[in-house]
Amino acid sequence: MIKAVIWSSMVDYPHNICTTLFTCGCNFNCEYCYNKNLLKEKTLKLEEDILPKLLERKNFINHIIISGGECTVSNDFLEIINRLYENNFKIGIQTNGYRPDIIEKVIKKLDYIGMDIKNDFENYDKISRCTC
Ligand code: SF4
Repeated sequence: MIKAVIWSSMVDYPHNICTTLFTCGCNFNCEYCYNKNLLKEKTLKLEEDILPKLLERKNFINHIIISGGECTVSNDFLEIINRLYENNFKIGIQTNGYRPDIIEKVIKKLDYIGMDIKNDFENYDKISRCTC
């Protein structure tokens, strides 16, 4: 579920201005997470609230980042990627890397993957506090 949008970002997509979509929910529970408030936000509809505006601005911004939360655990992740791809956007994701099986399903449609490495492997759960 998409919960927030930054329509114009200069920092989320390397070398490109982009629009950033934030999905809610994450399988990690990092203490410093700044996106937990997304859960309280109203859900935005891709077809009604987002895609028309993306298409209207496509000549200026055609790179889209999907962030979160953790975008790969969002139940509409594949649908979002497919709809953006059908409309010829360049697509990037920011991920904690926990769901390579999901990423593999769409990797040919992705232009960029940013992965947040949180700690050395032995101490990973001290930061992620992941029980999954
Ligand atoms: S992986 Fe990212 S979104 Fe998930 S809890 Fe950690 S900081 Fe928050």
